[in-house]
Amino acid sequence: MVRVIELEDLEQDALKRNIPVMQKEGILFLISQLQEIQATSCLEIGSAIGYSAIMMATHVDRLKVETIELDNERYQEAVKHIDDFGLTQQITIHHNDALSFDEHFLHNTPYDCLFIDAAKAQYQKFFEKYVPYVKEKGIIIVDNLDFHGMIFDIDHIKNRNTKQLVKKIKRFKDWIFNHEDYDVNYYPIGDGICVIKRKEKE
Ligand code: SAH
Ligand code: MG
Repeated sequence: MVRVIELEDLEQDALKRNIPVMQKEGILFLISQLQEIQATSCLEIGSAIGYSAIMMATHVDRLKVETIELDNERYQEAVKHIDDFGLTQQITIHHNDALSFDEHFLHNTPYDCLFIDAAKAQYQKFFEKYVPYVKEKGIIIVDNLDFHGMIFDIDHIKNRNTKQLVKKIKRFKDWIFNHEDYDVNYYPIGDGICVIKRKEKE
């Protein structure tokens, strides 16, 4: 384990400022999935302040992480943290909207893993845009599919915007679970995580 204390500081600091970094069990699960497939490349959508990217890079041998962040302040912070941890060789960060980002600027295609952890209403768009850059046997991991449990009780959500958002997450879930090209495994870990793989061709 590398610099455990500092990583926890990073996590605690993010939580204090309401930056939705991955929950502890969630990030450990993600790391175990990457280790299992011996991933050497991961593309993350939504870096925030770099916590999950740094966790992945420090816990998975030989892994290169590439990550995209829209928000300027968070991007700047992430750059600083990646630098502080001496990980500039292992982590590439792009300051951009992942939806309009020019894929030609991606460094490590094709990826062993695509990790989607950005604007929840756009999950299907992120998925469709970046899945072509995932290796045939690669995996796609999606976070926050429970939305704090609200997904299971949409009728009782009072706030209109929240309800809309949760409906969109549900729509993505239904879409991917019923997609004929993919196998999906759902894990009630953290805020709900899915691991998606291409179905084996006959
Ligand atoms: N993966 C991080 C947490 C990400 S929080 C961690 O666990 O440490 C989600 C982030 O996605 C936010 O910082 C938000 O600014 C970013 N985001 C939202 N929409 C985006 C988009 N279209 N492109 C890139 N980043 C986006
Ligand atoms: Mg998340």
